[in-house]
Amino acid sequence: DDDLATLDPEVAAAIDAELVRQQSTLEMIASENFAPTAVMAAQGSVLTNKYAEGYPGRRYYGGCENVDVIENLAIDRLKSLFDVGFVNVQPHSGAQANASAMHALIQPGDTILGLNLAHGGHLTHGMKLNYSGKLYNVVAYGVDEQTHLVDMDQVAAQAREHRPALIIAGWSAYPRQLDFARFREIADEVGAYLMVDMAHFAGLVAAGLHPSPVPHAHVVTSTTHKTLGGPRGGVIMTDDAAIAKKVNSAVFPGQQGGPLEHVIAAKAVAFKVAAGEQFADRQRRTLAGASILAERLTADDVAARGITILTGGTDVHLVLVDLRDSDLDGQQGEDLLHSIGITVNRNAVPFDPRPPMVSSGLRIGTPALASRGFDAEAFTEVADIIAAALTGDGSEDALAPLRERVSALADRFPLYPALPLLSKG
Ligand code: PLP
Repeated sequence: DDDLATLDPEVAAAIDAELVRQQSTLEMIASENFAPTAVMAAQGSVLTNKYAEGYPGRRYYGGCENVDVIENLAIDRLKSLFDVGFVNVQPHSGAQANASAMHALIQPGDTILGLNLAHGGHLTHGMKLNYSGKLYNVVAYGVDEQTHLVDMDQVAAQAREHRPALIIAGWSAYPRQLDFARFREIADEVGAYLMVDMAHFAGLVAAGLHPSPVPHAHVVTSTTHKTLGGPRGGVIMTDDAAIAKKVNSAVFPGQQGGPLEHVIAAKAVAFKVAAGEQFADRQRRTLAGASILAERLTADDVAARGITILTGGTDVHLVLVDLRDSDLDGQQGEDLLHSIGITVNRNAVPFDPRPPMVSSGLRIGTPALASRGFDAEAFTEVADIIAAALTGDGSEDALAPLRERVSALADRFPLYPALPLLSKG
């Protein structure tokens, strides 16, 4: 049985290169994180070989006694983490969690009301090329043009006018907390279900640093790999036993076949980690880092270049840089930071005059650096480097010292120091 480097040197070399990239650059994509090596060990295990259609104790395959133990651990830990009655840990991704939750609650042709993609919503909340836009009749709410906050009066007005079967609260690019209670009030008024997609902020909720949507929503969905810091994957939660039954049959056999038990094992490990004090400390540093970034990117020298951040601050793990009044566009900002070793993604801002492929925004998040150990001092340094890069003249003379400072930070907070390279020689 050959090892990876012998069997497939090309893949081994690319994995090694990716490890080096992650170690030597600063990852500030808001939806990314670094899973603990124990999570990766569970995911890279023999569990990938096992078929287990069905649920623990009710499988359509033999030999499921060990995966049953694992899936039950994941289920029990997730229930306890978010204090919720029923969970499904099988969705392969956040998109599949959302597809299954919608499959459980509503019918094709029904109306859904979600946050406009251009205002920070997710593809699965009704984008026209996505399954959600094709299967359902989509109505979107947005943010206020002045405050950039979700306009709850607009949500209520849209709900009254369009009578959606499902209202979706949640976001991929929004720097503030949502009013879950008000969303539920509106859903109840029009007879809609409320689904909260907490993919981005689930880790903050787990640590008690963000209000939980669980008491308000009929169904809560999440990914497990963003602030939550686990393997790539999705989950669904509800406190309603009747909805739970529908969710289980929507996931399997509705949307998926065999569950990825190796990923479910990794989820179980991640949920155990997320219940600990170290995790809570990491989430506190995540929030502190985002606040430090917000403060630095609203300082006078940055404002003088026509650069600001949406809503003037943040309550969560990210800031949204607004470049609408700047010569710099989103693509240039992303490239500039990439050239000094900081990875972010450009992002359309609401009411963006530039085309989506260029855009006028940058989404900058702190979860991955917090997982690397960044404290307030390190976040202050990285915020200063970003401000200098965005306000500088972009010349090599200006960028070279910033690249040095990025390297110094990467060296000070080693990532996966014990992971060996796979390639030989
Ligand atoms: N929901 C939200 C709010 C997201 O931001 C994302 C990911 O970007 C997803 C769902 C989809 O997750 P996945 O990429 O695992 O399908």
